[in-house]
Amino acid sequence: MKLHEYQAKEIFRKWGVPTPEGAVALSGIEALQVAKRLQAERFVVKAQIHAGGRGKAGGVKLVNTPEEVKAAAEYLIGKRLVTHQTGPKGKEVHKVLVEEASSIKQELYMGILIDRDRNRPVIITSAEGGMEIEDVAKQSPEKIFKEWVDPLVGFCSFQGMKLGFKLGFDAKLSRKLTAFIDKLVRLFEGVDASLCEINPLILTDEDEFLALDAKLILDDNGLSRHPDLSELRDITEEDPLEVEASKYNLNYIKLDGNIGCMVNGAGLAMATMDMIKFSGAEPANFLDVGGGASAEMVENAFRILMSDKNVQAVLINIFGGILRCDTLATGVVKAARKVRVDRPIIIRLEGTNVEEGRKILNESGLNFQVADGMKDASEKIVSIVQSFS
Ligand code: GDP
Ligand code: MN
Repeated sequence: MKLHEYQAKEIFRKWGVPTPEGAVALSGIEALQVAKRLQAERFVVKAQIHAGGRGKAGGVKLVNTPEEVKAAAEYLIGKRLVTHQTGPKGKEVHKVLVEEASSIKQELYMGILIDRDRNRPVIITSAEGGMEIEDVAKQSPEKIFKEWVDPLVGFCSFQGMKLGFKLGFDAKLSRKLTAFIDKLVRLFEGVDASLCEINPLILTDEDEFLALDAKLILDDNGLSRHPDLSELRDITEEDPLEVEASKYNLNYIKLDGNIGCMVNGAGLAMATMDMIKFSGAEPANFLDVGGGASAEMVENAFRILMSDKNVQAVLINIFGGILRCDTLATGVVKAARKVRVDRPIIIRLEGTNVEEGRKILNESGLNFQVADGMKDASEKIVSIVQSFS
C-alpha cells in the first residue's frame, strides 16, 4: 500500500525521524492557515499524489509569503500533474503539503527495501541525492553504498559510520547520520514497510539531517497488524477496477491493451499474456483468480473484466486443479447472463472436470468460443485481432 508524502512524514515524526515542519491542506484557505501557523520565512507547497518526479513537473513550489502559499495551493489543487512516474494521463492533485522551506547544504539519497536475494533489508545511500537513483545506479554504480540489516542483530552503529565515511562525512556527522538511519530502520521494521525512500535526504545549513521527501510503501500482508495504518489508504489514487478486484481477493492489474484475460495462477497468467502478445495483440490486464477460486469469484472477475471499456475480446485460460473446470464454467455462465456480452469470449479449459466444464459452456446457449489447447486459443485471438483492423 502506497502512502502520500504527508502521511509518511507523520509516521516519520512518530518514530523520531526528523522532517521539516508542515501539514497537509485540502484548499487554498487551509494552506494559508497552515502557513500562518508555521511562521516561516519561506515555504514550500507540494502536490500530494502517489508518484515522484513532482519537482520537475511543477508540483513543488517554493514561495515567500502565506498569501503566495494560498495561491500556489489553489494553482495545484484540481490540477492534473504529469510526471515521469504518472503515465501520460497524469494524476489529479487533491491535497498539498505546506512546509517550512529548508536550507539545503547537501542533497543525499537514502532508501531501505527488502533484498530478496539476501532475505533482509538493505540500506542504500548515495551522495547523488535529488537525482533519479536508477540513473546513478546505471551510470556510476560506485557512487552507491549499501549495508544490509541482519534481522537478528539489527542495524549496527559501525554500519552507519561506514556509510557516513563513504559519503564523505567526518566522524561527528557520521554519528548523526547513524542515529538517523537507526531510527529509520526501526520505523521500516515497525510498520512492516516494503520500501522507504528519502530523496533527497538533506544536510541543512545547521548540519542537521532532514527527510525533505518521503516515500513509504507498506507491505499489504502486514497491514492486518496495523489497523491504524490501513486507514491511510487513498483509493482515489488507485485504479477503480483494481480497487473493486481487491474486494474479492482477485489479483488484478489493469494494462493498456484490448484483450482481457482471466487465468488461474500467476505463472499461467504470464504465459497467457505472452501468448496474447505473440498473437499480435496486447493484454488489457493481468488477472489471476487464484488456485482455489469459487464460482462467485469467477463471476466477479468476469464482471470486472467486461466493465473495462478497452476490452474488445476476452480470453479465459484455466488449468483446472483445485479450481475445477465445471466451477469455472458455472461462474462464467452466471456472470455472462448478468453482464451484456457483446464481445467475443474465447475459453480454453484443461484439467479436472474438463468435460463437465465444456458441456456447461456449450449447453448455456451463450456465444463462447471453446478453444482446444493453447495453440488454438492463440489462433482464435489472431483472427479476432485481424477482424479489428
Ligand atoms: P519529487 O520531485 O516528487 O521527488 O519531490 P521532492 O520532495 O523530492 O522535491 C523536489 C525538489 O524540490 C527537491 O529535490 C529540492 O531540490 C526541492 N525542494 C523541496 N523542498 C525544498 C525546500 O524546503 N527547500 C529547498 N531549497 N528546496 C526544496
Ligand atoms: Mn524526491
